[in-house]
Amino acid sequence: MAEGRIIKALSGFYYVQSDNQQYVCKGRGLFRNKKITPLVGDYVEFEPKDGNEGYIMEIKERSNELIRPPIANIDQAIIVSSAVDPDFSTLLLDRFLVLIESKHIEPIILITKVDLLNEDQLENIKAYKHQYEQIGYRVELVSSKNQDLLPELEPYFDGKVSVFAGQSGVGKSSLINVLDPSLLLETAEISKSLGRGKHTTRHVELMKIGNGLIADTPGFSVLEFREIEAEELADSFPEFSARMHLCKFRGCMHDKEPKCAVKEAVENEEIAVFRYKHYLRFLEEIQTRKPRY
Ligand code: GDP
Ligand code: ZN
Repeated sequence: MAEGRIIKALSGFYYVQSDNQQYVCKGRGLFRNKKITPLVGDYVEFEPKDGNEGYIMEIKERSNELIRPPIANIDQAIIVSSAVDPDFSTLLLDRFLVLIESKHIEPIILITKVDLLNEDQLENIKAYKHQYEQIGYRVELVSSKNQDLLPELEPYFDGKVSVFAGQSGVGKSSLINVLDPSLLLETAEISKSLGRGKHTTRHVELMKIGNGLIADTPGFSVLEFREIEAEELADSFPEFSARMHLCKFRGCMHDKEPKCAVKEAVENEEIAVFRYKHYLRFLEEIQTRKPRY
C-alpha cells in the first residue's frame, strides 16, 4: 500500500501525489461503506497498479473540510479584502474571520488595492490593520498593480495548503497572478476580453505556489453561519475567548448578562466596539435563522 495526497479531482478520478509521482486513482475500499467521498486535500492510502494508476483504499482522518470548494485539510485561509473598490468592510471581513475560525483554519488578512488610496485613506486602513493585529491576526497591505507595495508573501505559503477567500472583485486572481504568473488565473479583465463572466470551475485542484499549495478556486462563497451554534460564536472572536472565563455566568452570551467580562472589555476599549457590534449582529442572525429541514 502506498500513501499520498489527493491534489485534484476530476470526473470521478482522483489525482494522488505520492513523493514525486502522480497516480490517477479511482475510489474503492472501506471508506465507501462509511459514506465518505474523497476530497482534494485528503491524505489517502492507495493500491498502485499498472504504472501510474491506482485505487484509493482508505482516507485518513481530516483536520477540517470545506464544502465550497470541496477540499480537506486546509492549513490557512487568506482573506482578501480591498481597501477601496469595493470599499473596505470590517463587517464582511469579520464574517469571513468567524467562518474560518469556526473551522479551525488559520486566517491571514490581505488588504489589496492600497495603490488607489490617498494619504488619509491609507492612514485609516493602517489603523484597521493595527486593530486586527492587536487581536492577533496577521495583516498585510498589498497591491497587485505596484510591486513596491507588494511585501514578501511567498513565505506565507511555505509548506501549507492555502485557500483564498473574499468577495468577487477584491483582487484575488490578480494577486495570485503576480505572486506566481505560471498559475495565470482569469481576472476580471481577462474575462471581459473573452466576452464572458468569470467561468465557474468544475473541478478543484491544488496548485503549487512558492513552496506550498493553493486551491484554484476561492472558498467560502456562501457567507452564512449555518453550522455555527450561538454558544460557539464567541469562540471565533479570539479577543473574546481570551476573556470569557471571567464572565460571571457560565454560558454567558455576552449580550444581556450582567458582569460580563467581554462587555467590560468593550467599555474599557480593550475590545473594539465594532467587533462587539458585529458579534451581536451575527448572534442575532444565528438565533433567528430558520431551521433547516
Ligand atoms: P477577484 O474577483 O477577487 O479575483 O478580482 P480580480 O483579480 O479579477 O480584480 C478585480 C478588479 O480589480 C480588476 O479590474 C483588477 O485589475 C483590479 N485590481 C485587482 N487588484 C488591484 C490592485 O492591487 N490595485 C488596483 N488598482 N486594481 C486592482
Ligand atoms: Zn460574557
